[in-house]
Amino acid sequence: MERYREMAGENAFFTALKTGEILLFWMGKQLLPPGNLFMAIASINPTTGETLQTFTPHSDADIEDKLAAAQTAFERYRRTSLDRRAQWMRAAADLLESDSGKFARLMALEMGKPIQAAVGEIKKCAWVCRYYADEAPNFLTDVSIDTDARHSFVRYQPLGAILAVMPWNFPFWQVFRFAAPALMAGNVAVLKHASNVPQCAVTIEKIFQEVGMPAGVFQTLLVESDRVEKIVADSRIQAATLTGSEAAGSSLAATAGKHIKKTVLELGGSDPFIIMSSADLDKAIETGIQARMLNNGQSCIAAKRFLVADACADEFQQKFLEKFQTIQMGDPLLEDTQLGPLATPQILQDLHWQVRESVEKGAKILCGGSPPNDSQGNFYPPTILTDIPIDSPAYREEFFGPVALFFRIPDIDTAIAVANSSPYGLGASVWTQEETEIERFINELSSGSVFVNGMVKSDPRLPFGGVKLSGYGRELGREGIWEFVNIKTVWIGE
Ligand code: NAP
Repeated sequence: MERYREMAGENAFFTALKTGEILLFWMGKQLLPPGNLFMAIASINPTTGETLQTFTPHSDADIEDKLAAAQTAFERYRRTSLDRRAQWMRAAADLLESDSGKFARLMALEMGKPIQAAVGEIKKCAWVCRYYADEAPNFLTDVSIDTDARHSFVRYQPLGAILAVMPWNFPFWQVFRFAAPALMAGNVAVLKHASNVPQCAVTIEKIFQEVGMPAGVFQTLLVESDRVEKIVADSRIQAATLTGSEAAGSSLAATAGKHIKKTVLELGGSDPFIIMSSADLDKAIETGIQARMLNNGQSCIAAKRFLVADACADEFQQKFLEKFQTIQMGDPLLEDTQLGPLATPQILQDLHWQVRESVEKGAKILCGGSPPNDSQGNFYPPTILTDIPIDSPAYREEFFGPVALFFRIPDIDTAIAVANSSPYGLGASVWTQEETEIERFINELSSGSVFVNGMVKSDPRLPFGGVKLSGYGRELGREGIWEFVNIKTVWIGE
């Protein structure tokens, strides 16, 4: 409790209920639902603060049943044909598309995603299902290699039950981009989703059930994060993937390492968006705003740090500011809303602390900078910080919300140095017409991807992942399906 009081600061107060349950409030917002502070699996509408549904976590006996079911399912499922798996995957794509409005609404209600973006997310899930249904046979086909053998080749075989620990920010996409390749490769999946999106978690399990995937092939575990360690250690789990914070990734990987299990980690990012003087400035500004505001600013690959060449920095700042201030903030269920609430009061509180602390260190606020005090929801306005000191959170931390950080850079050497000074290395977007600059950015930026004259985005056809504190391993593309397979060498003599 003291940890929460310290984090929440002077605006926080606690209320003990007669039942012994504790409520924590911050600036009039309830931070956690009634119940044990550390054991809450609940849907709480971030627009209104209303608790939509609470869930009783699965018991240890439930988990035991599910892991046993996964094990049993794997023995049969691994023997199903790729054609059969592809039929299920395509059926899942069809169902996602036909009920896209329903699933999108669920995300808007549970974590505040603007409805248009939510529909887009569901369509992308359908795309990744079809992509792997089509491409898995190519990616998994035997590869012959000439050696001294009569025949030597590589065969790709499934590993077994894979645990996926997923975040709330893209509640469907994060799960499907893991599940489509993992299941097409013949693995079975157990999902531990973020505790604030349990309805999405349960719905995804139902989607796979409804299209006829055999029982046990995809299961959702409703568990709190402190129970993940035991699940990772269980001998029926062969490998694990986690998308989320460094703390969570490090904890899961430590346990997996102890038990010699492979992991993929997709962690945070503070992507640079670099604009050189030859850039198409209007296009860069339009794209930059879109890239910063993606998912209410809560995306790992959002453009977070804008590094702008001195020569065009004034014009960039003025035009960006004008457009940024017109962004429509409001109810995510309304079609014209561009910026919904942050997913939880905790995220709002963390973001505001980072802004205040950066300002205290010397950063200047160009717009925004504090939450509206007339709202029940977790709203934070579009905010721009300039003159960012090197010792401030804005310089080194990930800002998970609608806050753009501006830096002026005198030349490409400084742009690369500032971009690489982040402990993260997920994506980078660079804007220039100069071929020599493009080559330098591609070669010298420490990131899992470089997008030139475009925004960083995930695409089923392209590998996705990071370096440094952004994690390791790759999702999507050919590389994504190879993360959770046994790459078996076969050597046959005369
Ligand atoms: P988080 O707290 O780490 O939560 C992510 C998931 O990990 C949740 O399911 C969470 O469960 C679980 N978890 C938390 N602590 C854990 C632990 N010690 N052991 C095992 N599991 C644990 O992450 P978040 O802050 O909600 O999510 C945002 C972060 O994810 C950002 O840093 C963002 O950049 C990153 N992200 C990265 C990518 C990528 O592809 N690289 C994509 C999206 C998001 P509970 O909810 O029960 O705590």
